[in-house]
Amino acid sequence: MADHYEVLGVSREATTEEIKKAYRKLARQLHPDVNPGEEAEEQFKLVTHAYDVLSDPKQRERYDNGGDSAFGGGGFGGFGDIFETFFGGGQARGPRPRSRRERGQDALVKVTVELSDVIFGVHRDIEVDTAVLCETCEGSCCQPGTSPVTCEICGGTGHVQQQVRSLLGTMLTNAPCNVCRGYGTTIPSPCVTCAGQGRVRSRRTVSLDIPAGVDDGLRLQLPGSGEVGPAGGPNGDLYLEIKVAPNAAFSREGDDLVALLEVAMPDAILGTTTTIDALDGSVDLEIRPGVQSGDELTIKGRGITPLRGSNRGDLRVGIHVVTPTKLDTKQRALIEQLQSSMKSPGPALAQHQQGLFAKLRDRFRTH
Ligand SMILES: [Zn+2]
Ligand SMILES: [Zn+2]
Repeated sequence: MADHYEVLGVSREATTEEIKKAYRKLARQLHPDVNPGEEAEEQFKLVTHAYDVLSDPKQRERYDNGGDSAFGGGGFGGFGDIFETFFGGGQARGPRPRSRRERGQDALVKVTVELSDVIFGVHRDIEVDTAVLCETCEGSCCQPGTSPVTCEICGGTGHVQQQVRSLLGTMLTNAPCNVCRGYGTTIPSPCVTCAGQGRVRSRRTVSLDIPAGVDDGLRLQLPGSGEVGPAGGPNGDLYLEIKVAPNAAFSREGDDLVALLEVAMPDAILGTTTTIDALDGSVDLEIRPGVQSGDELTIKGRGITPLRGSNRGDLRVGIHVVTPTKLDTKQRALIEQLQSSMKSPGPALAQHQQGLFAKLRDRFRTH
């Protein structure tokens, strides 16, 4: 236990006036209203206890003679009392009642779009299940025609002083009022529609323009479109998490769309033309004679419109030459004829294109 004189920073010969002055100075620095925090509070307790003992001539005499009676509970009424004695109006800086109105929670809705929607963006009406303002009471929480009344227990401050017994005697602390739950007012006739909450749960439709170029997992924020807060407090935000459904034929690489085109071997040898259904309409493709597996056709400007920007990416079509696996007798004879006429040198290791081809094929195999 610290020495009371040391705690107050005064000599053992200090006069009552000096002790009072020292306490006043320390209390100004350490009072919980001025200096919140556990450490300051502990110090304040020590300082107050020291002052409590040394300012009372009888207790001071007993302390000087080696006893400390204050632990038995001196005439110490609590910090509030002493602080008010010194500085007056301690209650003026006390806690205020809390507001019923609070900001509503953010809401998260997942929206699945097709890859084709990502090209130009898409309009969606989505159902959102959130809290909305109660139309009966318009957020007042009261039955129409009634209003909140000041809490009789705490007098509208939302807080009550509680006596707490401790080693240092009885102290007063502020605690939220149980009756009004800290609001300072009570509602004698709560709105029946919302059970006095000022809001009700409701399913509503939110009209959305999902921009082009959104990617899987992207979150769009719609400020103020989330839940309305308690007692009509401001709305939270609505977040939309975008999920892009996988497409069987097309996938996305940056702003490009990529696809794999299977070309029959004779077509690859002789060349051909074809029309494919892209996600935004048909595209005519010309397959040059002798096209190889791993070759890529690029159709400029048929990819995705970027999220920020207007120049669409490209559509890239990789070629995969399909080797026939079932030949009838006549076809087999024709191929054998071709083979002997071409005097094939036989298979040989590719020197440069192998890695590229493998990479391309792996990419298209991912779905
Ligand atoms: Zn209501
Ligand atoms: Zn109250």
